[in-house]
Amino acid sequence: MENLSLIGQQMSQLTGVRAIMKDIIETLRSGENASWIDLSAGNPVILPEVEQLWREQAQKIIDSPDFGPIIARYGSSQGYEPMIEAIVSFFNQRYNLSLGSENVLITPGSQSIYFFAANSFAGPMAAGGIKKVLLPLSPDYTGYGGVALTPDSVWAVKPFIEKTSAHRFKYRPDFSQLTFDESIGCIIFSRPSNPTGNVLTDEEVQKIADLAAVYDIPVLVDSAYAPPFPALNYVPMEPNFSPNVLHCLSLSKAGLPGERLGVVIGDAKYINILQSFQTNACVHSSRFGQAIAAPTIRSGALAEIAQDVISPHYGEKFKVITSAFFRYCPDSVPWYLHETEGGIFAWLWLENLPIQDVELYQLLKKSGVIVVPGSSFFPGLREDWKHKHECVRISLTATPKELEEGVRRIAQVITQVYEDSTG
Ligand code: PLP
Repeated sequence: MENLSLIGQQMSQLTGVRAIMKDIIETLRSGENASWIDLSAGNPVILPEVEQLWREQAQKIIDSPDFGPIIARYGSSQGYEPMIEAIVSFFNQRYNLSLGSENVLITPGSQSIYFFAANSFAGPMAAGGIKKVLLPLSPDYTGYGGVALTPDSVWAVKPFIEKTSAHRFKYRPDFSQLTFDESIGCIIFSRPSNPTGNVLTDEEVQKIADLAAVYDIPVLVDSAYAPPFPALNYVPMEPNFSPNVLHCLSLSKAGLPGERLGVVIGDAKYINILQSFQTNACVHSSRFGQAIAAPTIRSGALAEIAQDVISPHYGEKFKVITSAFFRYCPDSVPWYLHETEGGIFAWLWLENLPIQDVELYQLLKKSGVIVVPGSSFFPGLREDWKHKHECVRISLTATPKELEEGVRRIAQVITQVYEDSTG
């Protein structure tokens, strides 16, 4: 459509992973190959115990006298009061904090937090000048690429690559490349990371928070996969509640992606700004979703089911995929799996891959396997970096059998690709 504003044009572009997802959906719908192994999905697995928890909570709300007012009334744009209270009391108790309700905002999914923050703290500034959204460790969540209304305001920094053992590696923030100054409006990173499964260490997070604090830069720690729920961390990690840190949660990977629930915890001065943005954009999140989530957070039931059911589910899948790679991928291929520290994805790096990641994606499609080409996950990275085209993301939402067979086919294809390039 031609008659669009600059912002309208920018927001309607099908970039990064959205373009690939379109291709994936069309491929799966084409019915060309009935036995696709889909290792691209971002939707969490529906686990029966988790679904049951939400069904029971929903039923309780439906049967309660509060049902009418919950669904038939607007509420405060800060969030449904029992949900805010539940977050305050659970976090205060668990992490020995002294949060008040002024430190919490409930949003329609956590993606919206990054959108509100990117356009409140970065972009053209009221006092003049333009500030950036800094992604301190690229690759990172592809959704960050679309959060800023001002074109080109998202900037990402290349990491340091550490080969940790044979066929394993880990990204680390490269502090020699990270500059913290007045040009930065806010910082965002996911921990655990989508797409890589990386968990920045407690020390790395503290260092980023401290360096940012010098310039009063808010740091948004995207904890969509972190403890206490969904607790998809397989290395120890502690949340950081420094004064300039905005701790961002999502209920999506705890089984409620359809209800759109995000939570920001932080200094009231930031919360107020984000709340005002939210009021203008969408008023508030679904009150029904908040009402069913609140009691499970307050009682600790959600943290418990995350620890006992959700976390072991993906932990097992990480074991399956790791052992499958070691079983099927020959040593002659320079393959490296990112350390599986958290999240619901495995990240494969093929050093000096003779073809581009998107070509590999097409070849894998021919063998019936769908992954997501890695180059979709470097939003804001301006540099032409060969590594961007040497990775793929593999979702752990498939069954163990599918993961095993998928990796077997991936191993076959990549072995052939390297052989062809030397032959
Ligand atoms: N952050 C990360 C790292 C994600 O992977 C996702 C979704 O996949 C989101 C944020 C958005 O989640 P939500 O459903 O809370 O908007």
